[in-house]
Amino acid sequence: MLTDSFGRIHNYLRISLTDNCNFRCFYCMPEDDYDFTPPARLMQKDEIVALAKKFVELGVNKIRLTGGEPFMRKEVGEIIQDLSVLPASLSITTNGTRLHEFAATIVHAGIKGINISLDTLQREKFIFITKRDQYEAVKNNISLMINKGIHVKVNVVVMKGVNDDEIIHFVEWTKEHHVHIRFIEFMPFTGNRWTSNKVITWEEILDLISEKYSFVPLKNDIHDTAKSYSIQGHAGSFSVISTMSAPFCSSCNRIRLTADGKLKNCLFSNYETDLLTPYRKGEDVTDLIQKNILQKKKELGGQFNNAFEDLNPDTILNRSMINIGG
Ligand code: SAM
Ligand code: SF4
Repeated sequence: MLTDSFGRIHNYLRISLTDNCNFRCFYCMPEDDYDFTPPARLMQKDEIVALAKKFVELGVNKIRLTGGEPFMRKEVGEIIQDLSVLPASLSITTNGTRLHEFAATIVHAGIKGINISLDTLQREKFIFITKRDQYEAVKNNISLMINKGIHVKVNVVVMKGVNDDEIIHFVEWTKEHHVHIRFIEFMPFTGNRWTSNKVITWEEILDLISEKYSFVPLKNDIHDTAKSYSIQGHAGSFSVISTMSAPFCSSCNRIRLTADGKLKNCLFSNYETDLLTPYRKGEDVTDLIQKNILQKKKELGGQFNNAFEDLNPDTILNRSMINIGG
């Protein structure tokens, strides 16, 4: 088992398949020119599967594929297939644009739920955020996944002055549709021009929703990062991920493998362990993994605390989100 020095057991691995993406979301990708990692420096398909197996041997029973955009990875179909036979639940976080090409693979792999990112319900704003004109493609693929019986969670990064005026519209969407909307507090990463005054907090989001709807909290799992709620008569539900205003580090069970094979024990850690190079030399990486987990800080990578209003993002040493794998 992968237990850290605070007794937290890590059974959830997020694997980034690539830092490449067909979108350019301004809150994720650095504004300055960003060079995607060359393919030779990425974990190759068999390396991803072998390292995932190693983590499963060490107690991981939940794997999420992410990126960058995971469906930009050439062998994504084969990777999904190979990972689906491991004794771990498999899920994916995606921008949704290519899901129609992989619907059969997803169903065949037994994937039950997918997280799809969509920050606005307005086409023009979608283009402003992602720099791509693919709003309809994403909306259509959300419907496609729901029709295939896949549970869809829609990730919405809420930013003041950008899409906070749409919170209610997203909640309205849950009235007739079996979608779960996850409002995510805007987080600081290298190059994303985060400022504390752009964060809309969990409490502010709930206040806004309560002006129009009464809602009740749903039962959460101890490891859930999202606080979930339902509105009577609505087919769907919603939740808030309060990383900035009320972090959930004390029950964290997550670790991350970047597309270039580095293990990160926290989204905000600046401590990384290269697993790919020793793996390529034929070395056993078990000790390296365990040592990395033992280095995990109590909260937020040891880089800040929940008094985010005073946070200077320039003091955080990290990668950009697209290069971590969110
Ligand atoms: N490309 C896929 C997607 O967009 O869903 C997967 C990778 S993306 C990095 C994973 C998640 O991180 C997305 O839901 C995205 O909205 C979220 N994300 C990216 N930058 C963020 C930020 N600065 N604050 C909060 N969430 C962020
Ligand atoms: Fe690409 Fe997802 Fe980042 Fe947007 S949030 S740039 S879709 S990786």
